[in-house]
Parts: sequence; C-alpha cells; structure tokens
Amino acid sequence: MKSYEELLEEALKKIPKKVDIDTRRFKMPTVSVVYRGSKTVIRNLKEILDVLRRKERHFIKYMLREVGIAGQVIGNELILNGIVRKETLQRKLEQYVKEFVLCDVCGSADTILEKEGKVTFLRCEACGAKRIVREI
Ligand SMILES: [Zn+2]
Repeated sequence: MKSYEELLEEALKKIPKKVDIDTRRFKMPTVSVVYRGSKTVIRNLKEILDVLRRKERHFIKYMLREVGIAGQVIGNELILNGIVRKETLQRKLEQYVKEFVLCDVCGSADTILEKEGKVTFLRCEACGAKRIVREI
C-alpha cells in the first residue's frame, strides 16, 4: 500500500502548473515630467500606454479627472493646463494601474478591459479572474 506522502506526491503531479507570472512581471512606468510656463507636460505618454496596454482615451480621462484640470494630447505628450507635481502624477498613474490594469488574484498585468452592457470588467488573461471596474 502507498504511503500518504506518495499519494500526496502523485496528486500534486496531477495539478497543472500555474502560469508563471514572474517571467512577465509588471514594471511600473515612471512619468517623465517637464514644466513649460504654467503647463505641466507628461512626455512619455505613449510609452506608458504601451506598458499599460490601455486606450489613450480611458487613461487621459482618468488622469484629467483626478488632477482636476484640463489638458490635451499632442503627439507623445499629455499637456496639462496647470502645474501638477510629478509625485502627484506618479501616484495617480499607480492608482490607475492598481484599479484598471493589475489582476487582484495573481498580480498579472496581462489583463484586458471588457465592456458587457453598461458594466466594464477587468479580465485576467493569466489566471482567468474577472472583476468589475468603475466607469470613468
Ligand atoms: Zn490573474
């Protein structure tokens, strides 16, 4: 008769290996900020969006609402019509990532936003988890 340990080992072998999320661990982008007169410019907008894999419109809408001032996108830059500290922008970016990019369950950034009717879900492509995100 097999020992408990042997049975346990056999059972564990049957469990499919988890998706290795370490190999594609998310690296938080850093906002590159310059000030031009009374305007604040995020210079690496496209790079940030590439890492986040999110639509420009969604991210911009969030950022403008969070800092509470108007702005526009010109080329690779987001130009804010006022002075905002770099630390504030970085913190807002990190909040956005936490809320709209990272999976709560496995921490992967391999996620997509899906709209079903009036509800938007964050679906994880690594582990399959799904959660509702707020509309912005
Ligand atoms: Zn996940």
